[in-house]
Amino acid sequence: MTRQLVADGVYQRQYGNQLAEAVYTDPTLSRQVMGSLWKLDGACTDRNEADWFDAERSLATRRARAVCFACPLQRVCLASAIAYAEEFGVWGGLTPSEREPLMIAVASGLPVDVVVDRALGGREARRARAS
Ligand code: SF4
Repeated sequence: MTRQLVADGVYQRQYGNQLAEAVYTDPTLSRQVMGSLWKLDGACTDRNEADWFDAERSLATRRARAVCFACPLQRVCLASAIAYAEEFGVWGGLTPSEREPLMIAVASGLPVDVVVDRALGGREARRARAS
């Protein structure tokens, strides 16, 4: 696990550097990802942290994903997980196996914001079609 509780409701990233290939066309998103304060306002801060690190197909993971999909920080959260090659847990509503192709796309040179927006746009479109 690379997200650690350092104070009540405050998490700190425990991983090192962004992927060397992580580039952005959206400087605002780049600045957000570089910072660490965004997560203080995440919809998960007062939830059970374990739900975000359960097995991919578990009920706990579905609960976590539902919270993420309503979280206003979904975009920066997912971008951060991809840029820092986060291996574990649900970030931005996506599981590690869902993020893997996104990390490959970023490692191949696609900008982080483009990859994230495509992923979230596609998911939103699918949800709209299903409703
Ligand atoms: S998108 Fe999910 S993991 Fe990220 S801050 Fe929001 S609730 Fe937490």
